[in-house]
Amino acid sequence: MNLRRPCGTRSLIKGGNKQMKCIMCKHGNVIDGTTTVALERHNTTIVFKDVPARICENCGEAYIDDSVSRGLLNHAEKIAEEGTEVDIRHYQAA
Ligand SMILES: [Zn+2]
Repeated sequence: MNLRRPCGTRSLIKGGNKQMKCIMCKHGNVIDGTTTVALERHNTTIVFKDVPARICENCGEAYIDDSVSRGLLNHAEKIAEEGTEVDIRHYQAA
């Protein structure tokens, strides 16, 4: 007997980079792109532009890698220590 997967089964977002589906709208394809991320640390608001992310073609939800978001948080922490209230930066890989 053959056990076959029903065709059309939708897979949710996975760890790999290939053919991810959006977990928000569940049917958009997620493609490489960049996004803008705003972070608040203490009294500081930092906006990072051109952050590498995967973007849903359908709803625009952005998925950022853990390593990237950790980098942003570290960066934000340093900027906050300087006492800046609002800062807008272009993302730079560490
Ligand atoms: Zn989506």
